[in-house]
Amino acid sequence: MGPAALAVALGTEPFIDVVRRVAAQRTNALAVDELTYGELWGQTARVAGKLSARGVVAGDRVAIYSENRRGFVLAYLALQRLGAIAVPTNVLYRAADLGNILSDAKPRLVVGSAQTRPHVPADVPFVDAADVEAWATDASLSTEHDDARVEPNDIAVMIYTSGTTGRAKGALITHGNLAAIAAQLNEAWRWTSADTLLITLPLFHVHGLCAGLNGTLAAGAHALIRERFDVNEVAKLLQSGDVTMFFGVPTMYVRFIEKIPPQKFEHVRLFVSGSAALPADVHRAFEEKFGASILERYGSTEFGFALGNRYEGPRVVGSVGVPMPGVEVTIVVPKTTDRVAPGEVGELLVSGPNVCIGYWDRPEAMADAFADFDGRRWFRSGDSMRFDPVDGVYVVMGRLKELIISGGFNVYPLEVEAEMRLYPGVRDAALVGIHDAARGEIPVAFIEADAGFDSDAFVAAMRDRLASFKLPKAVRIVDALPRNAMGKVEKQRLKASEEKP
Ligand code: AMP
Repeated sequence: MGPAALAVALGTEPFIDVVRRVAAQRTNALAVDELTYGELWGQTARVAGKLSARGVVAGDRVAIYSENRRGFVLAYLALQRLGAIAVPTNVLYRAADLGNILSDAKPRLVVGSAQTRPHVPADVPFVDAADVEAWATDASLSTEHDDARVEPNDIAVMIYTSGTTGRAKGALITHGNLAAIAAQLNEAWRWTSADTLLITLPLFHVHGLCAGLNGTLAAGAHALIRERFDVNEVAKLLQSGDVTMFFGVPTMYVRFIEKIPPQKFEHVRLFVSGSAALPADVHRAFEEKFGASILERYGSTEFGFALGNRYEGPRVVGSVGVPMPGVEVTIVVPKTTDRVAPGEVGELLVSGPNVCIGYWDRPEAMADAFADFDGRRWFRSGDSMRFDPVDGVYVVMGRLKELIISGGFNVYPLEVEAEMRLYPGVRDAALVGIHDAARGEIPVAFIEADAGFDSDAFVAAMRDRLASFKLPKAVRIVDALPRNAMGKVEKQRLKASEEKP
């Protein structure tokens, strides 16, 4: 599809209608693991029938609180056929974070698993994903279902943002958003029905769900879905010849470099990284060892995927490339609508058919999250970014909230972290702003270091490479930086560990 046709098609059709059409056209082709499109479509009809018998109706929220498995995929598609709203929920959530979702979304029921069931309060209606899988293959049930009529602007999915401060908000992702995001990635990454994607990312997050699963189904392609990332198993699968694409987070690529001997994955045409910054040294080491240049992209729960390195290249290391097809971005002075000069740092705003329509039950959050100007609605990403006019690419500088202002100077953690990682013996590094009476905040470094690491020599070396206000004023050696399920460093926890009385 050319850019003009794509722009017309983006977001104008509910995603489930795309899947219905692809299933009719590619009935005997593999869709998910060993299930064909025909089987997948027939089985989701059975699941839709059963969920409907349990009282699920259009507009209901249904939490999917399960690890990656067949039942997740079936329930997710069945809910769209019912016009109900799927609420994919992080399996690591426990009483407080799960409780927030249950009280906010008020789901009709929770589709969970043996792993998550113990964490669901007894008074919340529960369906086990194993039962969903049993319904799907129950030959006594019909493989036809009278689907609800859904419009592109109806809510299909609600994903709670992993926001590190304040109460998590449910981002409202429409049926049109899902279709737009899948079409954008299909176009950007030349995804076709000949592809097989290996998904080891959790399906409860946009990266696994909207990029991985939805991108596959919209392209009429094949996905192999695994419960978790096991680097040895993944390397074997990538070598098997079936897999053509792999999507990961930076920590997965670090595991590859550490654990897998040098080799070429001849059949894999695309490795993608996202959800957190891919350090330049990781990009280079992966390319050196495996002969593949990772394509880094930038996205979020609220807008899917806004930027990515060009498929044809060059892939500019340390940058997140250019806007996805049909996406507009601009950089403004934070909290304003004033554009910064080219090359200056500001907040990235994103506009396009991929951008969610708001947050569940939070009308007051709209004014901070969105801005209307230039005839468009823009989402305020909360990320500092810079457009590099020389290479013509965007560079992420970090979360605005994580910006450190020390003695009136801005310190962008990602810039300093990239520098620290280049120092011998530093395996990984995070820079956090800690309250300081004199300077407001001071940068403090948390380092995963090899044995015998000399912090003083490290700071001395940094002094030659960084402005004094960017220098870490203290260095803490840690065994491992705390990370969430997507491999993002949890800086709030580092801050709290430092600021506790
Ligand atoms: P989430 O909504 O949990 O997916 O988090 C979205 C946030 O992840 C973005 O706003 C960025 O701060 C961060 N992020 C995603 N992709 C990248 C990337 N390629 N480089 C740096 N940060 C990223």
